[in-house]
Amino acid sequence: MTKNKRVLVTGGSGFIGSHLCDRLIKDGNDVVCLDNFFTGNKDNIRHLLGHSHFELIRHDVIQPILLEVDQIYNMACPASPLHYQYNPIKTIKTSVVGAINMLGLAKRVKARILQASTSEVYGDPEVHPQVETYWGHVNPVGERSCYDEGKRAAETLFFDYHRQNNVDIRVVRIFNTYGPRMAQNDGRVVSNFVVQALQGKDITVYGKGEQTRSFCYVDDLIDGLTEMMENDGFIGPVNLGNPVEFTIIELAELIIKLTNTPSKIVYKPLPIDDPTQRKPNTEVARTKLGWDPVEKLENGLKKMISYFQDTL
Ligand code: NAD
Ligand code: UDP
Repeated sequence: MTKNKRVLVTGGSGFIGSHLCDRLIKDGNDVVCLDNFFTGNKDNIRHLLGHSHFELIRHDVIQPILLEVDQIYNMACPASPLHYQYNPIKTIKTSVVGAINMLGLAKRVKARILQASTSEVYGDPEVHPQVETYWGHVNPVGERSCYDEGKRAAETLFFDYHRQNNVDIRVVRIFNTYGPRMAQNDGRVVSNFVVQALQGKDITVYGKGEQTRSFCYVDDLIDGLTEMMENDGFIGPVNLGNPVEFTIIELAELIIKLTNTPSKIVYKPLPIDDPTQRKPNTEVARTKLGWDPVEKLENGLKKMISYFQDTL
């Protein structure tokens, strides 16, 4: 457990970042939350404003900043395809220039720094389930490239700062994560389906819905992130995700059942370069961190549904 440390969370008012701020404060740390509020929301961290161990800075990671901290979680980056494709040049700058700025800061103040990388570094994977040693199958010039290649370049920067400057890095590859505080207009599949079901609207399945994803509940992910940050001697990369795989149709049917909605499934075109399958091999996380996700999709969805029932 991280304790009595000064911790910077970039992207701290976003979905995952805000849960991370909560955990770090609960564990007795001083948290600096840095965000430009592109996809983040003050409501996610409103309950922390005024807390004596919490500070909020409106700042863009594309600009350098000097702060005295012991640890940095670099979470800043839009994560939903809808948001990261809105301004693709800004997205890749956030990943690459943001990584350079945060690594420079880590180097200067000798902080340990963790990068929120992604399963998207594997692209549309030909190796299934995905292992960390797989180099991926990524289109460098497509609509998802600003995100995928930005995150890949950020990983390269992390390892180069480590090799060249001895920066104390941690790299985690996050697989599809869901839970309360996902933005309603986020465009990602779990939030879309839950919002559509609760509003009695059509459930929009892209393509035939036979593509697969593996969904990790946010609390499990936060356990993995903090365990990786605290682990001495293992820098990653490590996959963090739930290894139980679902087709998108199965997800839609489960949400229809849990919300008891009259909504019907409708089919929309499959977005370009949409990965056909995704499931993490979590052996490295299990052996190096003793981490295993525990929340079943059905239980996690119930919590998410109840959150959206209160906030919609
Ligand atoms: P999110 O969009 O809710 O949060 C991202 C946060 O970063 C937001 O608060 C946003 O305002 C902030 N941000 C964006 N650009 C910024 C910039 N230039 N400067 C400062 N702040 C900036 O997304 P999330 O799901 O919480 O994702 C958090 C991180 O985890 C991202 O780096 C994402 O790539 C990674 N990740 C998430 C998932 C997932 O399933 N949620 C999967 C893989 C990787
Ligand atoms: N998807 C869908 N309907 C939606 C949103 C997404 O069928 O309303 C599909 C999307 O095509 C992809 C999967 O769900 O195959 C996961 O999409 P998401 O945007 O959540 O994340 P990705 O894993 O693609 O980054």
